[in-house]
Amino acid sequence: MSFIRNARRLAVVFGDQLDIDSPVLAALDKRRDAVFMAEADGEAKHVWSSKMRIAVFFAAMRHFAETLRSEGYRVVYDALEADSPKRSFSDVLGENVERLEPETIHVVEPGEWRVRRGMEKLCKELDVPLRIEADTHFLCSADDFRKWAEGRKSVRMEYFYREMRRRHGILLDDNGKPVGGDWNYDKDNRGSFGKEGPGDDLPVPPRFRPDKTTRAVLDLVNTRFADHPGACNEFAWPVTRKDALAALDAFIRDRLPLFGDFQDAMWSDEPFLYHSLLSAALNLKLLRPMEVIRAAEKAYADGTAPLNAVEGFIRQILGWREYVRGVYWWKMPGYLDGNALDADADLPDFYWTGETDLACLRAAVGQTLRHGYAHHIQRLMVTGLYALLLGVRPRDVHEWYLAVYVDAVEWVEVPNTLGMSQYADGGLMASKPYAATGKYIQRMSNYCASCPKNPTKATGDDACPFTTLYWDFLLRNEERLRGNQRMSLQLRNLERLSKDRRKTIRETAARLRGK
Ligand code: FAD
Ligand code: SF4
Repeated sequence: MSFIRNARRLAVVFGDQLDIDSPVLAALDKRRDAVFMAEADGEAKHVWSSKMRIAVFFAAMRHFAETLRSEGYRVVYDALEADSPKRSFSDVLGENVERLEPETIHVVEPGEWRVRRGMEKLCKELDVPLRIEADTHFLCSADDFRKWAEGRKSVRMEYFYREMRRRHGILLDDNGKPVGGDWNYDKDNRGSFGKEGPGDDLPVPPRFRPDKTTRAVLDLVNTRFADHPGACNEFAWPVTRKDALAALDAFIRDRLPLFGDFQDAMWSDEPFLYHSLLSAALNLKLLRPMEVIRAAEKAYADGTAPLNAVEGFIRQILGWREYVRGVYWWKMPGYLDGNALDADADLPDFYWTGETDLACLRAAVGQTLRHGYAHHIQRLMVTGLYALLLGVRPRDVHEWYLAVYVDAVEWVEVPNTLGMSQYADGGLMASKPYAATGKYIQRMSNYCASCPKNPTKATGDDACPFTTLYWDFLLRNEERLRGNQRMSLQLRNLERLSKDRRKTIRETAARLRGK
């Protein structure tokens, strides 16, 4: 228990708000006000969070509390111990509010709709006014996004991204036109490693060895959350601003130059490739999006990284990251209940263990449980694709993604999972479902070479489940997707299947579903 006995204002800082420039901190009087942070079982169990995800959040929070103290803030930090009683965040905050008797409670907009409503309810019950500050970390506010989106025929990311480039003056020439002449170099960013693979000179991302503070968290997680999925014994994530900046520097220098070329490629036993691994540091707010964008832009100006890599990387942060946050706050809370394709299958158990003989899923789930990380195409076109084709309930898919990744916070996870990956919003985010056969995975990786299944086969003992389920997905959703122009080629191919072939595919798919 902290020795701080009273606070005029109490600034509540959540685990994904570790921003030293946060507006709630700037407004505090360091002598009279206090900062409140807490580790709560409820937040680790709200979805069955993986050990690595819990460890990253708690380790970053403890380090942030140390930074705040060193800068003179009065900090009330409620840390979990292996044997402390189970308590929810509201219980801990409620007790501290009764003790500290603040006149007001201050928070930055939380990253989750549930948490925002929870804070409003709690403060009403406690009879303490709540002040919610806009989150200055982001480059587009929730209100500005809503204004941009409402009344538009199409709310596709590409239009939003161009506007953000113009608004913030990113990668523009002196006439305000996109550098290089095009807004988007995605067509150059779909390379695979061919048969040779990524080679021996693949750059190794920096590993951040756990210090004493992080080691205490790892011990806590391994005892208190021992039954949670995955492991945290290979912990190497940056959990301080200093380490996050070092991770950014290493990425810009070593991996950005080839980030674009191999953005979509996958390779066995190479979980990171040319990706930045910066999502957790960004979502914890140890890094600011604009400093990351400017660092990439400078690499282009200095001639150390080509335009396709720099534009592709900036699009992810200035475009996708801001866009999905806008969609989340625009469409919540109803967005979470979307199920446009009426999917009702269970999530396969191997998503929680990695135990499957399907090589691509074993690799993607395996590295997820080991590192809390898989890159975008593994999430979208391996684990996400399989759940989509199988017809898993979108809510269950969402809970898995929120539980297992070190960068998972609802504002970013929900639109990516429900919208982009599962088409549960009926096409608000994606112009068509991301449905593909195993041949896509074969083209973009070497997984199929070590798999007992054959990506070209939809039926038979060695049929690839992706390929079987792809055709079955089209058969099940044919009527629903018929009006979608972008599906017309896929549906025309479906029409070519004979009656017998359709029947065999349906039977094979039913066996895969255990029906
Ligand atoms: P890089 O490939 O190096 O990309 C650079 C940065 O761009 C990332 O760090 C991230 O901040 C941003 N970014 C890239 N793609 C997206 C995107 N689609 N949406 C938002 N930001 C993006 N990202 C999360 O941060 N948290 C999540 O919980 C999350 N869940 C996802 C669930 C599904 C089903 C899918 C398909 C994607 C999800 N993503 C999520 C987006 C993306 O997969 C991750 O941001 C990325 O893989 C993180 O790895 P990286 O830092 O190496 O990214
Ligand atoms: Fe995955 Fe199918 Fe390839 Fe096996 S054959 S690795 S299941 S895509």
